[in-house]
Amino acid sequence: MGAKRIGHFFAKGGSALDGIQQARVSWSCRRCGMTIYTNPGRGRRRQRCATCLSSNWLYHQSAIELKRWNDLRLLAAAGTITRLEHQPAFDLKVNGIHVTTYRADASYYENGRFVVEDTKPPDFMDDLAKLKIILFNAVFAPQNVAVTLHRAGR
Ligand SMILES: [Zn+2]
Repeated sequence: MGAKRIGHFFAKGGSALDGIQQARVSWSCRRCGMTIYTNPGRGRRRQRCATCLSSNWLYHQSAIELKRWNDLRLLAAAGTITRLEHQPAFDLKVNGIHVTTYRADASYYENGRFVVEDTKPPDFMDDLAKLKIILFNAVFAPQNVAVTLHRAGR
């Protein structure tokens, strides 16, 4: 899967190094936003943030996801969006039967509207991820909520 991601970016015209950096995983401090690129670990030995000493880290699968999260934090701090959540999970039920759980990249409220956001472009997703988004949109259609696909660079 990692190689496929790198290949994707490479195919889109970036250098191989760009691809590796795009695919790089990271963790950002939930409290202050500082970023680290090594796994903070678990339990009592979990790394603390050097800036604020929190040990509450948010995982980001790529540089694009990290950048979007940092942009959303700024929008939340400015009050443009509210109730920002990182990787919220939604139970998707059809006729009362739990089919699957969809984890988005972020959710928030903007101008009173509930926004559920995925950062990955569609040509970057596997079939299961695409299917989950279609199912999410079908299940939440009565509430007029659909996944917003955030394009990198916008
Ligand atoms: Zn911190």
